[in-house]
Amino acid sequence: MNDIDEMFSPQGFRRHGHALIDLLADYLAASLAGEGKVIDWKPPVQATLDWQQPLPQSAAMDADGLLDALRDHILPAGLAIHHPRNLGHQVSAPLPMAALCDLVASLTNQAMAVYETGPAATLLERQVVRWLTELIGWNGAEGVLTSGGAQANLTALLAARQQMAGWDVWKEGVSFGPSLRILASEHAHYSVSRAAGIMGLGINAVSRVAANDQGRMSVAALMEAHRQAIDSGCRVMAVVATAGCTPTGSIDPLAEIGAYCQRHRLWLHVDGAHGASALLSPGYCERLRGIELADSVVWDGHKLLYMPATVSAVLFRNPAHSYAAFAQEASYLFHGESSADQACNVSYRTLECTKRMMGLKLWAAFSLYGATGLGALVERVFATAEQLAARLAAAPDFELLMPPQTNIVVFRHGRTGQAELRQKIVESGAFHLTQVNLGGNVWLRTTVMNPFTAERDLEALLDSIRHASADM
Ligand SMILES: *Cc1c(COP(=O)(O)O)cnc(C)c1O
Repeated sequence: MNDIDEMFSPQGFRRHGHALIDLLADYLAASLAGEGKVIDWKPPVQATLDWQQPLPQSAAMDADGLLDALRDHILPAGLAIHHPRNLGHQVSAPLPMAALCDLVASLTNQAMAVYETGPAATLLERQVVRWLTELIGWNGAEGVLTSGGAQANLTALLAARQQMAGWDVWKEGVSFGPSLRILASEHAHYSVSRAAGIMGLGINAVSRVAANDQGRMSVAALMEAHRQAIDSGCRVMAVVATAGCTPTGSIDPLAEIGAYCQRHRLWLHVDGAHGASALLSPGYCERLRGIELADSVVWDGHKLLYMPATVSAVLFRNPAHSYAAFAQEASYLFHGESSADQACNVSYRTLECTKRMMGLKLWAAFSLYGATGLGALVERVFATAEQLAARLAAAPDFELLMPPQTNIVVFRHGRTGQAELRQKIVESGAFHLTQVNLGGNVWLRTTVMNPFTAERDLEALLDSIRHASADM
C-alpha cells in the first residue's frame, strides 16, 4: 500500500477502531467506578513543558503508538468527566451511544450548509428540533442546532433585534434608529453581553435587572428597567430570562415575565441552555411553567441532555422568526427554492456555514431511551443535588446559600478562604468543583451532572472540605 492508501485504509480503520473502542470502554468503566483522580492537576505552565516536540516532518508514530499515547498520556491528563466526584462545571457526562454517533458524524462529515451537503443530517436535525419544540409545548415552531449556547443566544438576539427594532437593522445597521436595549437578569450568562457587543450595541445596552435572594429575576425590577429604558428614549429589543442561571442554577419566574412581555409586546428570550431539560422530567417540569410564552428558547444538548459537546438548539415559537437573524442572500448556496425546500437549507438560519451533523446523537438518544429515559437522568441529578443541599443544611460547619432549583448547589465552609479551599481540593484530584463570586463573597459551587454520584460521594466531599480546611 502506498502512503495515501494507508491513510484512508478501511482495514486500518476497522482494526484501530476496535482497539480504540476497547481502550475507551476501559476508560469509561474506570471513570464510572470512581477509580483514579478526577483531575491530575498540573499548573498549565508546567504542563506545557510536556508538549514542546518539534513539528513532525514525517511519521513520528504509528496507529498503535497513537493509542498508547492516548491511554498513557492524553486521557490521564484530562478531566475525568464520567467520574462520580466530578462536580465542577455544567458539562454532561455524555451517553456512550451518543459518543458513537459523533464518530459517525466525524467520518461522514456532512457539511450541512445546504440540504444537498447532508440530506439525512438535515432531516434528522429537523426531526429533533420538532421534538424539542413539542416538549416546550409549541406547535409548528422551528429552529436550528448550533455549536453551543453562546452562539444560540447570539442567534436568538439577532432575530429579536431584526424583529423588534422597527427598521431593517440587517440592511441599515444599528445607528439608523433609536438605541436598543436588552433587559436581562444580573445573573444572565456572559454570552448575552457578548452578543450585545458583537451586535454593535455595546455591552452597556444590556440593562442588568436585579435578582432576589433566590437568584430569580425580580419582576418589579424588570418593570422599572423597562420604564427607565423608555424614559431615556431607548427601545427594548428583548427581555432575556434565564432558566438555570450559571451562578446558582436559579430559574427566573417565567410565567410572570412572560405575561409582562405579552402585555407590553416585548420579545421574550429564555436562555434555557442549562435548565430547559427539566421539561423532560414530570417531577420538575413545573419549574419551567411559562417557558411556552417565550419567543425564542435556547437549549443545550451537551448539558442536561447528556450529549457530547457541542449541540445546542435555538428555537423560535413563530417559525418565520427563525429566518430573521440572518436575512441574507447567498446565490451560490441558495437558488430561490420554494419556502418548504428553503427550510431544509439550515445555513439560512445559522451563523455557521459548514456545521457538524449534530442531530444524529440527539435523535439516537431520544430513540433509544425516550423522553422518559432522558428525563430520568435529569431527575436523578436534581435529586442528588437536593440530597447534597440537605446534608449541607444539616451540617453546622457549612452554610448553604439557597435550596437548589436545578442541580447546582452553592455553599461555603467558614466565611473566608473559599478560593484556597477549592484550589487545595482540585489539586488533590479528589473532586472537581468550582467557585462563584456573589455579592463580593466567594462561595463553593458544585454541579451534579453525573447520575452515578452517590450518597457516599457527597459525604466524602464534605469530609474532604473539612480536612482541607483544617490543614489551612
Ligand atoms: C452554558 C450556558 C451558556 C453557554 O452555552 P455554551 O453551550 O457553553 O456555549 C449560556 N447560557 C447559560 C444559562 C448556560 O448555562
